[in-house]
Amino acid sequence: MTTTRVLVTGAGGFIGHHLVTYLKKLGYWVSGVDLKAPEFSISDADEFEILDLRQWENCLRATREADQVYALAADMGGMGYISIYHAEILRNNTLIDLQTLEASRLNGVQKLFYTSSACVYPEFLQTNPNVTPLKEQDAYPAQPQDAYGWEKLYSEIMCQHYRQQYGIETRVVRFHNIFGPYGTWEGGREKAPAALCRKIAYARLTGAKEIEIWGDGEQTRSFCYIDDCLVGIYKLMLSDYSEPLNLGQDRMVTINQLADIIMKIAGVHLQKKHIEGPQGVRGRNSDNSHLKQVLNWAPEISLEEGLSHTYQWIEKQVAERLSK
Ligand code: NAD
Repeated sequence: MTTTRVLVTGAGGFIGHHLVTYLKKLGYWVSGVDLKAPEFSISDADEFEILDLRQWENCLRATREADQVYALAADMGGMGYISIYHAEILRNNTLIDLQTLEASRLNGVQKLFYTSSACVYPEFLQTNPNVTPLKEQDAYPAQPQDAYGWEKLYSEIMCQHYRQQYGIETRVVRFHNIFGPYGTWEGGREKAPAALCRKIAYARLTGAKEIEIWGDGEQTRSFCYIDDCLVGIYKLMLSDYSEPLNLGQDRMVTINQLADIIMKIAGVHLQKKHIEGPQGVRGRNSDNSHLKQVLNWAPEISLEEGLSHTYQWIEKQVAERLSK
């Protein structure tokens, strides 16, 4: 048991909700804030407050007794969301990040963990499905594809300057496609693994013969299971490393291959119908050499194992929906 008081922002969201549980098991006193309570199970936080962190007073209130802050709150979603709502995302996330950091400083928070994204990497390095894995220094010269990535890059720099000028310790991670159970699986903000699990589960349970895939499905990504993500977050928080660090798997698959793996898990074979839709960059993969050097660790859980847990959970959600 530790007396350290930890705040998790975005604690009603996918990673934040899992992180609260993880930190509680380690013995921390944890408070969580979010615009909403977790959708799929009750939070393990000692305290959970519904607060809109775009409001300055709420940022001050949320951070008032925290020794450490894990800043996960963000207006975000999969390609179907972040490729459309640029102005809202830029406005909301700038307000959340800037004010969370400043309120943390004023309230004497010792350490702040900032969750950036692989979306900071320049579009011109990601035009080929067979992309060279992205190293941390590749972020510059900057040309993120979406406003979402520009804001993350700006907030990374803000963390760096707050650390240098005010002495608040900051840690910055760049996530590469984190997935797992208890994440958004419908409604427009879901990401590719959850969307494919949902489509395949619907097909399996209703007897449909095909699923829709955005684009030709040859765009590539790497996907990291939530349990590995939590270990990586905590290792980075404990480290003395303050520069941005990739956190993801470095096994690259096409979206078609991702669908094939999920179909195998579900025990079905479905036709893929390729339709128009946002695809993001053509290829993206994480170069984990720096991650291994800094944390002496890299994600270990296979894509098949992670997807198996995720598919089982999503199929259950779909079955419940169909039974209503
Ligand atoms: P999520 O959408 O599930 O969680 C984000 C949470 O922030 C949501 O619950 C949302 O309600 C909350 N939020 C939004 N606006 C808020 C506001 N004004 N005040 C308070 N709370 C607010 O997303 P996630 O996948 O859990 O992502 C967590 C963090 O990791 C985010 O910063 C995200 O940008 C970053 N990230 C995630 C991934 C990924 O693959 N999941 C990849 C790169 C970066």
